Amino acid sequence: MEEKIKEIAKILLNSRYAIALTGAGVSTESGIPDFRGPDGLWIKNPELERKEYEIYEKFLLDPRGYWIDVMEERRIFGGIENAMPNPSHYALAELEKMNIIKYIITQNIDNLHQKAGSKNVIDFHGNISRLRCIKCGNVYDIKEFDIQRILNEGKVPSCKKCSFPLKLDVVYFNEPIPRDVYKKALSEVIECDVMIVAGTSAEVYPAAEFPRIAKNKSNPAKIIEINAEETSLTREGISDYFIKGKTGKILPQIVDEIKKMK
Ligand code: NAD
Ligand code: ZN
Repeated sequence: MEEKIKEIAKILLNSRYAIALTGAGVSTESGIPDFRGPDGLWIKNPELERKEYEIYEKFLLDPRGYWIDVMEERRIFGGIENAMPNPSHYALAELEKMNIIKYIITQNIDNLHQKAGSKNVIDFHGNISRLRCIKCGNVYDIKEFDIQRILNEGKVPSCKKCSFPLKLDVVYFNEPIPRDVYKKALSEVIECDVMIVAGTSAEVYPAAEFPRIAKNKSNPAKIIEINAEETSLTREGISDYFIKGKTGKILPQIVDEIKKMK
């Protein structure tokens, strides 16, 4: 294990353009459950998965009903907005400061990479601190709207440019990834020569394509996977290195090793 961490540290130190792809696993140590890990929400309650698929349709058919549900969920699961980064997020932010990691593509919507200080973050599935207009693409800070008051007045939060109802800027199942976001993420994947893949089951497409694209392109990237359990990336031989363990423990170890080598 120690040898592997040293080798990975060396690869990162010698990389030209390293990026990271992160999933729900980097945030479980901040108290936010994942979907498919051993304690995942869906593993424990499959009904929730079915419900997830209906949310986007509900927004399209009944935006006010959608917002009433969102506010009710916030009352019940209100934790995400108040969650704090854990050592996984801080280690990745430090790698950016060292100019090793150039971009993070995260599937998480929890804003924790930004809270830990990372600047170059692509929120591939959106971010709960923003609202998005699916018609004109305009994005707003959630703080610009007093959502509860708007609902109490019998209205819905709507776009200041085109008046279309706004949605939380999170990508639900059956909802397309916004084009600008997809294009930016893909260009980072094409550019990278090393990709850290941390805390993702790599089951949700199109994000799960990224390590596969990075590995199979004409100038293949080295794939470094960190996860509490093996994934399809490990099994299919996409990962050049696999470290089994908690990202909150392994990522800081890698940072420490790099510091020793500098
Ligand atoms: P996932 O639930 O499918 O997989 C999480 C993976 O992380 C699992 O393989 C699990 O073994 C691993 N894991 C859990 N805790 C870990 C730890 N401490 N260290 C290392 N590995 C750990 O998550 P996914 O691949 O991100 O896909 C699920 C989808 O759900 C994503 O699209 C994401 O947007 C969304 N989601 C987001 C959040 C969040 O914002 N924090 C939380 C749950 C789900
Ligand atoms: Zn609009």
